[in-house]
Amino acid sequence: MIVSKFGGTSVGTFEAMQHSASIVAENTDRKLIVISATSGTTNDLVALESPTLGSTEREEILMRIEERHLSIISECENQEELRKTFLGQMSELREHLDQTGREKRWKDRLYSFGELMSTRIFVQVLKQYGIEAEWLDARDVMKTDSTFGNAAPDIKQIAKKAKKFIKPDKTYLTQGFIGSDIFGNTTTLGRGGSDYSAALFAEGVNADVLEIWTDVAGVYTTDPRIVPDAKPISEITFDEAAELSVFGGKVLHPATLKPAIRGNVKVRVASSKDPSQEGTLIVNTSKESPVIRAISLRKDQTLLTVHSLDMLHQHGFLAKLFTVLAKHKISVDLVTTSEVSVSLTLDTANKASNKVELTDEVLNELRGFCEVEVEKDLSLVALIGNRMESTSGISGPLFSLLEGYNIRLVCHGASPNNVCFLVKEGTGEEIVKLVHKKFIG
Ligand code: ASP
Ligand code: MG
Repeated sequence: MIVSKFGGTSVGTFEAMQHSASIVAENTDRKLIVISATSGTTNDLVALESPTLGSTEREEILMRIEERHLSIISECENQEELRKTFLGQMSELREHLDQTGREKRWKDRLYSFGELMSTRIFVQVLKQYGIEAEWLDARDVMKTDSTFGNAAPDIKQIAKKAKKFIKPDKTYLTQGFIGSDIFGNTTTLGRGGSDYSAALFAEGVNADVLEIWTDVAGVYTTDPRIVPDAKPISEITFDEAAELSVFGGKVLHPATLKPAIRGNVKVRVASSKDPSQEGTLIVNTSKESPVIRAISLRKDQTLLTVHSLDMLHQHGFLAKLFTVLAKHKISVDLVTTSEVSVSLTLDTANKASNKVELTDEVLNELRGFCEVEVEKDLSLVALIGNRMESTSGISGPLFSLLEGYNIRLVCHGASPNNVCFLVKEGTGEEIVKLVHKKFIG
């Protein structure tokens, strides 16, 4: 069984939906299709949530959502019924917006309209391609806790409900991103959560393969916008891919891989625009394991350095430092330490989440027990591969390549799959080009 997920751009227009439907039609093992909202729609719904939104603005946004969907519907067969269903959803949406006493769960119900609308239309497009898919309400299966906006899945319940609602001899179309809690409230898994949904479904139904159809032909050796020679990687391990998604690969939502690893589901990332390209297969163990497989670049890094002589031969300093950061919900990426200093970078991978910045409050609290320095405009370059901690001969060529550049911080040794370093923002792309040419070619 294959679970196939199509993102917003793969269902964003009638043409895109046609492409995606023709992919589904190619293989009858594609039994569970998970899709996102049409591209732009979740952003529009988020914009509607603003309490200060004026009525003209509100109307503009609603019209945008309406036009986007009606223009797809206008190219479908069975238009009348589709229009009726969709316009019904639009009035439900308006009613929802008119509600007073907005609680947290109000937002998740609002966000859920995007996926509920796109699936109603796509089920018809699938039909036009000969696929009789049953429309499945993801909320019947995707059981979560009640953390609205970022709900945590209940894996046991999902497996149980999957057994109940998903029969192996049928094909289903369902929504990514949305779920429900035990009280029946609609929840969401966090922005960009459809990949995660699809992986949870794949785990829940015990799928062999999870396909993520997106607008790029898989995971590349580096960003092709920086290095036009970059190639799609045909196979990569979960361990490597995890470093890639954490360190700035844009294809995968970082949490996506967890259910797939747990469920021993292979993940294939491929382009719905160009399905003839094989894409990238992510597996537990790969046939080939090159020392350096990919290079990634992450911009907009902040480096925090703290310094204190109290650290010398003392215990508890790091604990104190991290307690302050934890209290302010600041997530840390990289850490290096010396006898009397600690440097760390902040996690900026997930801008959409409610990331807390280094506010004056945090800095002042830290200044209570150490000297603090903050540097911005840095980029992180990461080499991703295998056995990097135990392979000799990487650092020599790497650092001679970087001779003319100022390297602010290096992390090497914590992971066999990653060596990374911080450089000045303006030099990041140049360095990626050099490193890619030298190690990947
Ligand atoms: N539609 C949701 C979003 O835009 C989920 C997704 O596309 O993955 O965040
Ligand atoms: Mg998306």
